[in-house]
Amino acid sequence: MKSSLKKILIYLILLVFIPLSVYTFIQFQSLNESEKVIKGIFENQLESVLNSAGQYSTDILTTWQSRILTVDLTNENKTDAFTQLFSGNRSLRTIAVMDTGYSRIKILFGEADSSILNNAAGILTKEKLTRLKTYRRGGYNKIEPLGIIQGKTILTFLHPQKEYLFFMILPVEDFIRNSLSPKLQEIAGDKLSIGIENEEGSIIYSNVELKAGDVEIRKEIWSLPGYSSVIAFNDATIESLVKARSYINLLLIGVINVFMILAAIFLFRNIKREVETAQLKADFVSNVSHELRTPLALISMFSETLELGRVRTEEKKQEYYGIISREAGRLSRIVNKILSFSKMEAGKRIFQFARFDINEVITEVMNTYSYHLTSNGFDYSVDLHTTHNLIMDGDKEAFTEAFINILDNAMKYCRSVKSIKVSTGFRDEYVFAEIADSGIGLSDADIQKIFDKFFRVESALVHNTKGTGLGLSLVKYIMDAHKGKVEVISKPGTGSTFRLLFPSAEKKLF
Ligand code: ADP
Repeated sequence: MKSSLKKILIYLILLVFIPLSVYTFIQFQSLNESEKVIKGIFENQLESVLNSAGQYSTDILTTWQSRILTVDLTNENKTDAFTQLFSGNRSLRTIAVMDTGYSRIKILFGEADSSILNNAAGILTKEKLTRLKTYRRGGYNKIEPLGIIQGKTILTFLHPQKEYLFFMILPVEDFIRNSLSPKLQEIAGDKLSIGIENEEGSIIYSNVELKAGDVEIRKEIWSLPGYSSVIAFNDATIESLVKARSYINLLLIGVINVFMILAAIFLFRNIKREVETAQLKADFVSNVSHELRTPLALISMFSETLELGRVRTEEKKQEYYGIISREAGRLSRIVNKILSFSKMEAGKRIFQFARFDINEVITEVMNTYSYHLTSNGFDYSVDLHTTHNLIMDGDKEAFTEAFINILDNAMKYCRSVKSIKVSTGFRDEYVFAEIADSGIGLSDADIQKIFDKFFRVESALVHNTKGTGLGLSLVKYIMDAHKGKVEVISKPGTGSTFRLLFPSAEKKLF
């Protein structure tokens, strides 16, 4: 690789691959960390949903507490008042009141389940009562859950002014089903499964079917001792959601990597092409100067010799005239090629289309070239196809130019065995002219490049042969303008066959 390309490659590695590797490495490193963060976020979200479920349960109890406190206990008809307040309530079984001296317990509403009530009074410890009183002094009338007795939750609270202690007895499953479930369904929406789990770990209620194993977060319900609210996503787990995000991140990193690498490769290939073209152009200038210098030197040398009258015999003079005219022809061919190329580059070449027979043109060219070929030691043959008319619509001059370029190359790139076979033919609605030589041949890789402008195969054999690297790029340009194609069959050391195919003008006839 040339040193300038090596430098560009190093810059590209420094500018693209190193930052990209560092970025990818950091992203991979932080992936674990962000998985933890995202997991935490999901857990917090679910926890706050459960908090609101627990808060709702407390809100219901506080509402009941306020209602209970609206009833004047000294009133004779207080039982009626309670019945009026709680008659429709299927979750609150019993309301009872006791003086704080633990002397008497009295049912205010509901069933008189004395064994439960006695037990309730039993589990109310002195500490709990003191705590309730402390809260009351602070202006906060707290409800204190006492525990579960015979499947019922017992809650207690103090009268704000008087020394009364109230008890609320809830059949907890009824409370969950009747009072809590509408709210649970509302906050669950269609994405979440929320349920209530009892002390044994079985789910006694859930908005959609929820297995204990699927539960992501559980949180004790403060107001219902022994019960927890539980939550899960409907069709995913936190783990799967976190993983899905990680996969998306990984995919993104992958896409960025592929994109950047492709961009770098694309950039490098473009730069490489530019550098190669610049190199080819430099070679071209030196090749052309060399090509021009040789005939010019010969012309000036022989014309000077003639001018000085030093040539004695007529035979020698004729020989020198011949050399001068041949070299002048060579010069004009080179100049014409360069002019033709510059027209092509500027897009200014105009083709004059007309109908002609390629056999006729090739016969003409071969007649002109026959002396040149034989005098250079070539053994050549011309095999013209006559079964069909080889008629095409095209620019006759351009066709001739393309054919001569190929013929010139066939002569230039032959070494000791000098054989050229010219033939014409008809194939798949194309007429073609073919030139097969016994020259140095071409590798598959070179075949791909020979039609590029300025390209010359890098070998000593080619280096020692004069050329500009323009001929085949002109051929390709002419073929494209005629919607034709070029086929090359060649192997190094076994000669080459170039086939120029043009759309036939008479295809409808066959
Ligand atoms: P040049 O002026 O160098 O001949 P061309 O564009 O005509 O330029 O050809 C490009 C290159 O293709 C040549 O330099 C040569 O390496 C290779 N090439 C062309 N024709 C032949 C052939 N008949 N046999 C071997 N190599 C060929």
